[in-house]
Amino acid sequence: MGTMDAMKVLLCSSEVAPYAKTGGLADVSSALPAELNRQGLSCSVVMPLYREILNMKLPLKPVGEIAVLTGAGITEARIYSHGTSYFIAHPLFSDRTGLYSYAGHDYPDNLERFAFFSRACVEMIRLMGDIDIVHCNDWQTALVLAYIKDAGIDHVGSLFTIHNLAYQGIFDAILWSMLFLPHEYFHHDCMEFFGRINVMKAGLVFADAVNTVSPTYAAEIQTEEFGSGLEGMLRAISDKLSGITNGIDTDIWNPARDSLIARCYEPSDMGGKRECKHALLEKFSLPVDDGPVFGIIGRLVEQKGIDCVLDAIPSIAALNAKIVVLGNGNPAFERRLKELQNASPSSVGLHIGFDETRAHAIEAGSDFFLMPSRFEPCGLNQMISMRYGTIPIVTGVGGLRDTVVALGESGVPFGLRVASPESQAVVETISEACRIYREEPGLLNAMISTGMEQDVSWTKPAQQYSLIYRNLKNLKERSR
Ligand code: ADP
Repeated sequence: MGTMDAMKVLLCSSEVAPYAKTGGLADVSSALPAELNRQGLSCSVVMPLYREILNMKLPLKPVGEIAVLTGAGITEARIYSHGTSYFIAHPLFSDRTGLYSYAGHDYPDNLERFAFFSRACVEMIRLMGDIDIVHCNDWQTALVLAYIKDAGIDHVGSLFTIHNLAYQGIFDAILWSMLFLPHEYFHHDCMEFFGRINVMKAGLVFADAVNTVSPTYAAEIQTEEFGSGLEGMLRAISDKLSGITNGIDTDIWNPARDSLIARCYEPSDMGGKRECKHALLEKFSLPVDDGPVFGIIGRLVEQKGIDCVLDAIPSIAALNAKIVVLGNGNPAFERRLKELQNASPSSVGLHIGFDETRAHAIEAGSDFFLMPSRFEPCGLNQMISMRYGTIPIVTGVGGLRDTVVALGESGVPFGLRVASPESQAVVETISEACRIYREEPGLLNAMISTGMEQDVSWTKPAQQYSLIYRNLKNLKERSR
């Protein structure tokens, strides 16, 4: 007590940009700690050392060795560091490609892999000795909190963040013994879920505080419609549950200084945006003209309303507009996209895959960004779009409600709302977007500049996290 030492936070995550990324969790796991460190905290991150990271040939520094209990007995793992990031090295991560799956199928030993990683995180906390707060994210690191509890480590405050409730880490009960956790945890008030193991529930039960990545999603997940079966438990822990809207990394996503786009631009000089649009059309083999362009980037899954967009594509072509799609995921969606591109090659640009450079090109070169999600914990792409002067077209769920003021709603608008995640509604909003684009340049430009002015940085969200950490630390100190 009474020292001026910075609060020490260890953030445990299964993906951290730029080392390994499949979605928004990786962005958060890198940008939030960076901002917390700027604000005077001492925050490090720990993640598995995937083969992809080994292939990067980074100058990794050996930090130490730990012994970790696994299904196969005690195994040794090495810890490496790179800046403020730590990596747990073990063949479970480095002897295969991909983070969680291969060719669309989850690895069957994911429970073992992330139980191992979670145990390793706890060993690291012991090794470091001076951690005040452990911050776990999604099911892959939820077990950290069960192991901390089980080990009787009670001086470390804990926060669990739900980035997506749709992935809970559900496994067959037969694997329970592999977790080396007390039998009584396999109970429906704890980690049991309809006869199976639910790893995320460990996070909800054992964390001192729980949050999700927007206030609206925090409320939504307490309802049957969005709760994925956990609404009851989430209502039961509502006293320790809050919502903090994500930010974006405004150094990486900055149209005024982005080396991945054709020409930089900013609110006072938007000339570059037209060049970016032309470069985008060229990159995606589309005819170069000044008609409206709709962009979409993301995992090709139902959550994102991709099926609605697919059904809307013929209408986009009929409206003389263009759409550029970047993503991968559900093979059926990938196939249909290819068919639609073949049917309208001058309206549909497509790249199946994960590609940072193309993502920047689409954010900068599109006029509108489509995100008709069925549910959206926070969503980063709509905020990136705003910053790039690309008008977000979004449904009204989760973080999309919290971050976008749409035309016709109270406040100064900078986005368009899709009434529901249905293709008809998507088509209607797209037609409205084309009309505004062609007939109301004044409104269009006002929306663009309002969007670009929004504060989408991590400054405020990091302050909110910092406050939670501080409260948890005080709580621990008082109960000592
Ligand atoms: P989610 O986490 O549900 O996938 P978010 O909108 O929160 O969605 O974050 C997605 C992040 O991943 C964004 O930074 C987005 O640009 C990026 N992303 C998703 N798919 C791709 C892709 N195919 N290529 C490049 N970046 C992608």
